[in-house]
Amino acid sequence: MTVTPFTATVTGSPRIGPKRELKRATESYWKGKTSRSELEKVAATIRSDTWSQLVAAGLDSVPINTFSYYDQMLDTAVLLGALPKRVQVVSDDLDRYFAAARGNGDVVPLEMTKWFDTNYHYIVPEIGPDTEFTLHPEKVLSELKEARDLGIPARPVVIGPVTFLMLSKAVDGAGAPIERLDDVVPLYADLLSQLADQGVQWVQFDEPVLVTDISEDASALAERVYNALGALENRPAIHVATYFGDPGESLGALARTPVEAIGVDLVYGPDTAVASVTELADKTLVAGIVDGRNIWRTDLQAALSKLASLLGSVGSLAVSTSCSTLHVPYSLEPETDLDDALRSWLAFGAEKVHEVATLAKALKDGRDAVADEIAQSNAAVASRAKDPRLNNAEVRARLDSIAKSGGTERGPADQRRAAQIERLHLPPLPTTTIGSFPQTTEIRKARAALVAGEIDDAEYTKRMRAEIAEVVKLQEDLGLDVLVHGEPERNDMVQYFAEQLDGFFATKLGWVQSYGTRCVRPPVLYGDVVRQHPMTVEWAKYAQSLTDKPVKGMLTGPVTILAWSFVRDDQPLADTANQVALAIRDETVDLQEAGIAVIQVDEPALRELLPLRNSEKQAYLDWAVGAFRLATSGVADSTQIHTHLCYSEFGDVIGAIADLDADVTSLEAARSRMEVLDDLNSIGFSNSVGPGVYDIHSPRVPSTDEISTSLQRALKAVPAERLWVNPDCGLKTRNPEEVIASLTNLVEATKKVRADA
Ligand code: GLN
Ligand code: ZN
Repeated sequence: MTVTPFTATVTGSPRIGPKRELKRATESYWKGKTSRSELEKVAATIRSDTWSQLVAAGLDSVPINTFSYYDQMLDTAVLLGALPKRVQVVSDDLDRYFAAARGNGDVVPLEMTKWFDTNYHYIVPEIGPDTEFTLHPEKVLSELKEARDLGIPARPVVIGPVTFLMLSKAVDGAGAPIERLDDVVPLYADLLSQLADQGVQWVQFDEPVLVTDISEDASALAERVYNALGALENRPAIHVATYFGDPGESLGALARTPVEAIGVDLVYGPDTAVASVTELADKTLVAGIVDGRNIWRTDLQAALSKLASLLGSVGSLAVSTSCSTLHVPYSLEPETDLDDALRSWLAFGAEKVHEVATLAKALKDGRDAVADEIAQSNAAVASRAKDPRLNNAEVRARLDSIAKSGGTERGPADQRRAAQIERLHLPPLPTTTIGSFPQTTEIRKARAALVAGEIDDAEYTKRMRAEIAEVVKLQEDLGLDVLVHGEPERNDMVQYFAEQLDGFFATKLGWVQSYGTRCVRPPVLYGDVVRQHPMTVEWAKYAQSLTDKPVKGMLTGPVTILAWSFVRDDQPLADTANQVALAIRDETVDLQEAGIAVIQVDEPALRELLPLRNSEKQAYLDWAVGAFRLATSGVADSTQIHTHLCYSEFGDVIGAIADLDADVTSLEAARSRMEVLDDLNSIGFSNSVGPGVYDIHSPRVPSTDEISTSLQRALKAVPAERLWVNPDCGLKTRNPEEVIASLTNLVEATKKVRADA
């Protein structure tokens, strides 16, 4: 087989459309307003625009089949014929696909979970004892034809068998999905031969699982799989892509197989280890040197030096992104509000492609051929290093002095408990909510009108206050014990704070796919974080003025603010977290001064930032807990600190939850049947806890009986004086009718259980 190596590419591309065209078309298809062919037209345009831009920028190999109507893991399940039986009853193939992703009236959807340590969520394939794998290559082949017709040097991308099976879930008593490896590898072989018949030169198999510690066997299994696929006669050249970190021993394992190219993440992974793998001498190293998941401009000079140092150890070098640019916004172009300096530090998707092409050109034609680009990059690096916004001496000195004075300690937990009992006079099993109430159309309209300049601040404030008054009244009528103001003024729990803190900017059109058609717009945390003024106090104070019951102040914690932003890469994350924590700490102190006795600091993303490698987990948890404690230790013992965590799978972070030392912790638990309480007990957790008794992710209204059963079960693990009653998460995505019915039952059930206790 004669293979022509490629020299410039990306791992994958975003697909939601630069203006979220796919989101709109898909949602309108779901509502029955758009026909299938109209949706397909939008999709085809997004694909052809994406591909032609990559070619125009100078890439000589273009990933295809990275488009998806919902998710690439789900696409792979379809490719391998592995959709569960309950979904297969839907006859139309596209509707079946969407039913698997999001359910329909009859079909329960597959689960969804986070894609490695990103904020992207994938659909978890289910592998049962009777799952029969069969190849359905229609999507790959039709995208290939489409690309060919446009003259695109297409490289089909498919999730590799090891990653696919290791991220799948066993159902109906089946063994671990990875045990089915020998059943799926022949299908991959069949796919390869079909692609070879089409004259395809290169195929990419994504194996990000190789950078994790999910399984000890991953390396050996990958070696076996790629030995088998590599041994096929009729196949294109194979590129195995690892990303999101260091492949460790898997790099050598892959290098020992006959595959022609191996992708390594040089931003979050190794750069020295590569040179020591001698088997790379006849491979193409696809060097992921341009950061695919953060938005900083590449230091071209540094990148070129790194690439140059690898040249001697590998057969050939292709320049690429560290991972798919799915995780960054499309382009900087719409961000017209940025000052020149800030803009010069950034590279979004389109700019990253240009960087890849520039680096490849420099490798081919020498640095002089890209002298202008290098000069611009050097100027940006220099300007960023000396910008005063990145180095606020006052904030840094304050952090130092708090650390030195031991200012992150609160009083002992029992002393705090006593002070809070005296101040709050709460009944046993106090009832509360997680913060947000339904974001009604009126609320969204008011916010849009404010942004469009149709109403002024005073009118906006008036409308938000009316909403708060209504929510407070509702909670009093329902008989809840600790009230909230309902968060109507928040577009998003991170962006709301980012917009008010120095050191952040919010993009205009920086949308990134979170799952399916849902997109988020992460703010950019570029400088030292400074709080110029209180951010939430007026709303909380107003709510408290309307009631004698305690109103809970509502803040987002430092780890979550980091997790859902693009963060600076010029200092350790821990330092950035502490700066954010200091701003939140100042806010807690102001809330307390305004008479707020209960403050919740949400950390739903605590689990999300957990490193992929076991050896790095403890250091992360240490700084994450430290930042939370810094944020919450500025208040008196009598001020009650709550925290809230969700997105399940607390196992890995259970010790850290205890270390947060919040007075009250509310957790997602409705679906896990309170198991988390036993986990907490087993590590000696002795503060108060509110396991969610109402699953807000579903429109279902839980009955009084159901909630009391949950509470009874919880009471077996936690004594009444430490148990709180609350929903699983915020109520913003639900409608008012569901919320009123569910909270009525929640209060009912609590009264019943209190009476029985
Ligand atoms: N306080 C937030 C809310 O109620 C918490 C959201 C979350 O956990 N993601 O909406
Ligand atoms: Zn939550």
